[in-house]
Amino acid sequence: MLKPSVTQQFPEERPQKDKTFFSLLPANYRGVHRLNRDEQGRTKCVACYMCSTACPAHCIDIVAAPSPWPDREKYPETFVIDELRCIYCGMCEQACPVDAIELTTLFDLTGFSREEMMFDKEKLLSVFDETVKMGTDPVRTRTGRLSVASELPPEGGVTTSSTAQM
Ligand code: SF4
Ligand code: SF4
Repeated sequence: MLKPSVTQQFPEERPQKDKTFFSLLPANYRGVHRLNRDEQGRTKCVACYMCSTACPAHCIDIVAAPSPWPDREKYPETFVIDELRCIYCGMCEQACPVDAIELTTLFDLTGFSREEMMFDKEKLLSVFDETVKMGTDPVRTRTGRLSVASELPPEGGVTTSSTAQM
């Protein structure tokens, strides 16, 4: 007869992914972005501009440069997302042909200035490192699949190791 409390004592209690209904953070929640690393720890991004072209909020700014690596022509010399302008639609994730950009389940995005909320490449790669370390966000994007932002991660997920290279 007694219903469990639905009030969550945030920030003492934090919603977690895949928990009970009342403390649930959906596994396909679209929060702060990350730039994914490849198995060598480099950014996967090939600076193709597909994400910035698809972005309805025009909040991705990329400067491409010749790649220092032989397996691609270009890489992002700079890559900045205005996290205040973003509407967290996931279109960038869907547009990326190499699964380099992904929205994570990090939701508590705060800062004291607009400049702080402009996430550059280093920051976006550090979000990858942080989420992989926490184990909350396995790499879930799969090239060629549509609507990846709305899909749940595979059972057990897939994680990628990281290093300091970019
Ligand atoms: S989530 Fe949507 S609005 Fe935000 S950067 Fe990606 S495409 Fe742009
Ligand atoms: S994140 Fe993906 S879509 Fe965006 S520029 Fe890099 S490779 Fe292209």
